[in-house]
Amino acid sequence: MTSLPLLVQPRSPRTRRAAPPRHLADLTPKERRAVVTDLGEKPFRADQVARHYFGRLLDPADPADRAQMTDLPAAVRDRLAEALTPRLLTAASERTCDAGATRKTLWRLHDGALVESVVMAYPDRVTVCVSSQAGCGMGCPFCATGQLGLTRNLSTGEIVEQVVAAARATARGAVKGGPNRLSRVVFMGMGEPLANYDRVLSAVRVLTAPAPAGLGLAQRHITISTVGLVPAIRRLASEGLQVTLALSLHAPDDELRNELVPINTRWRVAEVLDAAFEYTRTTGRRLSIEYAMIREVNDQPWRADLLGRLLAGRLAHVNLIPLNPTPGSRWDASPKSVEREFVRRLRAAGVPTTVRDTRGREIDGACGQLAASGGG
Ligand code: SAH
Ligand code: SF4
Repeated sequence: MTSLPLLVQPRSPRTRRAAPPRHLADLTPKERRAVVTDLGEKPFRADQVARHYFGRLLDPADPADRAQMTDLPAAVRDRLAEALTPRLLTAASERTCDAGATRKTLWRLHDGALVESVVMAYPDRVTVCVSSQAGCGMGCPFCATGQLGLTRNLSTGEIVEQVVAAARATARGAVKGGPNRLSRVVFMGMGEPLANYDRVLSAVRVLTAPAPAGLGLAQRHITISTVGLVPAIRRLASEGLQVTLALSLHAPDDELRNELVPINTRWRVAEVLDAAFEYTRTTGRRLSIEYAMIREVNDQPWRADLLGRLLAGRLAHVNLIPLNPTPGSRWDASPKSVEREFVRRLRAAGVPTTVRDTRGREIDGACGQLAASGGG
């Protein structure tokens, strides 16, 4: 296993923080059974708890839900719930918009750190956008999270719990306008997932393992969005997974990308695309290129043409994101006419291109607006 270069390691926090409580999502099925036998219980009890958690989407930290775990004797129930499913996330606020189809939750973690996740229902699917870190150390100037700096990496359990909480809310009808089953996860909330590689990968494995080991989602329905950490992209390519990779490019030339995505000074456009195409080669998955449209910054016709040349003939599509406003930013979204011309040129170059909807804008739940202000 290669470790990431120093530059992308989390900065050491000023004060040492206690690790989040251990949760069954942090453990392999074997380790879960060991916890249970250490408490003097039969090993199969671990699977029972996991089935309630992942299969029935009960919240064992909630006494009312715990009471429904009737295949476990009451006293055992409490002890196992405490040992395996401590509460990792507490909702500090919840907001909905789009007639209830978008729901953003601000979560307080055990040490007071704040992160957000957003559930979005569409007629045919429900997607949750999750955070992988509290804050982010990558400093992209157009992104609200980037202005916070990095607080810390989330644990596997903290990542998985965001998804399980979203699946539970969806199953219980709290998200309107879509099916009552959560099917997709995008790592597009706070943080750079590939800077928290091991925990994000463990979370992906738990989310895609069938119950009772995990939540049983399809690998293809999980998208990891990265700013472009080249060694981590190459490592991901070797994992034998079928997850979708999204690369936040935002500029086709190094001069501008150095400004918009500061990590570009470490790995240039050509290097990052090379690593991403290696991912498409080894996985057969189509690469998603994220490109925030910023007025008179990266939206010129020549940049569309250059991007088209970089991607023509490749297994890739472009997802344009109208820039979402962030506090204090000097930048605006591109006018629609400029956006349309950008799309036209990319398509003319043979590159499939879509424009992302801007779900959650009015509740600061859209891309790059997740700043855990607490006012949310
Ligand atoms: N750190 C990862 C994933 C989280 S950001 C990454 O950068 O890819 C998720 C997406 O939102 C990225 O494509 C990011 O570039 C985009 N984004 C950030 N701020 C934005 C803003 N203000 N408007 C539109 N998209 C933004
Ligand atoms: Fe971090 Fe992604 Fe925001 Fe850049 S765009 S600061 S990598 S969250």
